[in-house]
This record gives sequence, C-alpha cells and structure tokens, in this order.
Amino acid sequence: MHLHSLVTSSIGSTRQEQRAKEDKNWEESAIRVRHYEVTITNPISIAPEMQVASLVEKVIQGNSYTMDEIRLAGDVAAEILNHARSNPDEECCGLLAGRHRAIRRALSARNVADRPAAAYEIAPRELFRIMREIRAADLELLGIYHSHPNGDNRPSPRDVERAYYPDVAYFIISPDPDEPQPVRAYSIREGRWAELETEIQV
Ligand SMILES: [Zn+2]
Repeated sequence: MHLHSLVTSSIGSTRQEQRAKEDKNWEESAIRVRHYEVTITNPISIAPEMQVASLVEKVIQGNSYTMDEIRLAGDVAAEILNHARSNPDEECCGLLAGRHRAIRRALSARNVADRPAAAYEIAPRELFRIMREIRAADLELLGIYHSHPNGDNRPSPRDVERAYYPDVAYFIISPDPDEPQPVRAYSIREGRWAELETEIQV
C-alpha cells in the first residue's frame, strides 16, 4: 500500500491545486517526511488506518512542528485528573483537542490494554469515533493523555518507544493526591522526551 496515494485520495476533490501544493511542501520538509516514515513503519497498538487519518488531518491543518509549551483549560485539567483518580489502580487514557496550541476538550477513552495497570491502549474503533468527533467540532488533535498508577508522571521507556505522534503533547497524570504537579506534559520524539511548559488556564 502506498501511503501517499491514500493520503491524497482521502482529502476530497474540491481543493485539488492547493492540495498538490501542500503535498509538495509536505514532501520537501524533512521533518514531515520523517513523521511520515515513523507513521507507516511502526508496528503499533493503534490501527494503521488511524495513523493515516491523523496524518491527513495534519496535512490539512498544518500543525506546527515546534512546540515547547501548551495551554490547557482549567476544567479540562480537572477532568483528566478526576479520570485518573476515579480508578487509580489502572492507567486511564484519552485524547485532547483544541486549537492554536490551547486544549479545550478532553475525550476520554476506554483502556483496552491486556494489563491496564501498566499500559494503555485505545481500541481502533473508539479512536476513529473520537477523531471524527474532534473534526466535527472543528478542533485539532493536540494531545494524548494517560495516567501512571505508581504516581511517577514522567514518560516510561514504553511511553517513549510508543510515541507515534511527534506533533502532539503527551500528558501524563499522577493520581497521587500528594503529587505537587499531577498534570505534566511532554514532547516525545526520536527516542527522547522533554517536558513542556504547561499553562493551565482558569
Ligand atoms: Zn506511561
């Protein structure tokens, strides 16, 4: 399967010229091409079709690659923290959507991993449903969140290994009530992670 043809045939027929130009820009960008390779070559817990859908959305919306800070609405921070604390022995998970690097909405998902105390996985069907919801609301996928029942909310080796979306912020939540910073966000790409400055807006 040739991903490029899939991407171009998925966008729709009314923006032919602009799309051709975007494709060209996209191919000329080493960073995006690298993302493209990561996207199609990794064996993943998320369905490949989903990766294509995400890629199409990125092409359309042109998410910026550079990221060192992210804004999060206060009610969304409270919502994902509550999600983590509602079942503190298992990892909770979900997606975060917004615009212009400001997250406005959390879309929780069911963790279908074999060992939910130590891993998270979203079923492809649910992921599709959530992605459709994000698009219908005219928002962008900006983040992915999950919790660490042991309380240490820094990326695990598995989190780094499975960070297939280099353009999103990975939020890790600690359900520990004594944790001073229970909601932290990271950029994870190419086997490395860096904490993002998270501005929680009230
Ligand atoms: Zn993790």
